Amino acid sequence: MTVPHRILGVHPADDGGLPLAVQRAAAAGARALQVFTAPPTYYNEKVTLKPDKAAKVHAALAAAGIARQHVLVHAAYVLNTASPEEPKALRARAGLAKELERSSVLGAWGCCFHPGSAGDSDPTDAAVRVGLAIRHALEQVPEGSGTRVLIENTAGAGRTMGRTPEEIATMLAQVPPEWRHRTGYGLDTCHLFAAGHDIHTSADAQRATIDAFVRATGEAPAFFHLNDSQHPFASNKDRHALLGEGMIGAEPFRWLLADPRTAGIPLVLETPAARESVVEDDVSADPHDARMIALLEGFLTA
Ligand SMILES: [Zn+2]
Ligand SMILES: [Zn+2]
Repeated sequence: MTVPHRILGVHPADDGGLPLAVQRAAAAGARALQVFTAPPTYYNEKVTLKPDKAAKVHAALAAAGIARQHVLVHAAYVLNTASPEEPKALRARAGLAKELERSSVLGAWGCCFHPGSAGDSDPTDAAVRVGLAIRHALEQVPEGSGTRVLIENTAGAGRTMGRTPEEIATMLAQVPPEWRHRTGYGLDTCHLFAAGHDIHTSADAQRATIDAFVRATGEAPAFFHLNDSQHPFASNKDRHALLGEGMIGAEPFRWLLADPRTAGIPLVLETPAARESVVEDDVSADPHDARMIALLEGFLTA
């Protein structure tokens, strides 16, 4: 039996700047990386990433042996492109376009974002608004480095969008066919589980869950976030836990790594860090990150 090869990553602390985050990821044994390019609790719709700053990140990536195509940017959490409130949605739309611009300067694989909440509006209309925001971002930013705008599935709290394969498919359907290769989606295991999708009872059930997303959207996921869940199945609560220390358990992650759809794409841990804060010049790995990467590597060799 051949041992599967997987691109495992972390989202490290970025105290001291992105080049230090790169070094912390490499120290944890990661070959993929997720970062924020601006503070995630702001819209950042006017924030740019200067080429000289990007060059420093590229140098750090090269030194760390992490390919640019294995870098994922996580967009700000506040971008509610699904919002029925016009000013909010427009600002989110501008913010998403800027996220794509910064991610492109970085040459990242993709920029993932949470679709936001429908509020008191119709969910289908909300999904269409999300899709139009993606389209707007693609219009604003030239294809260039090939960075994609990627929808992340959500845990489904309240009226949040992106819980079902159908909602994600509706969002992607708003993008003209000639631009579809610049978009896509990714799946977060904690969000799947919390949203009530079976990824934990058997490998077959997990495969069927991923199949449903592939069928609805017409394509495989572009990334995975590997997180266990603090809260029970179908709780709609988004609280990540260390793999094997939450309600999903370790074994479903072994199944997932054996699924061919996890090959060749970033598989990024967003599990809790051991350290509450990091001294700016400390480039050592977070102990939890290093332990999680080792756990997953064990699944690949066992
Ligand atoms: Zn996310
Ligand atoms: Zn989450």
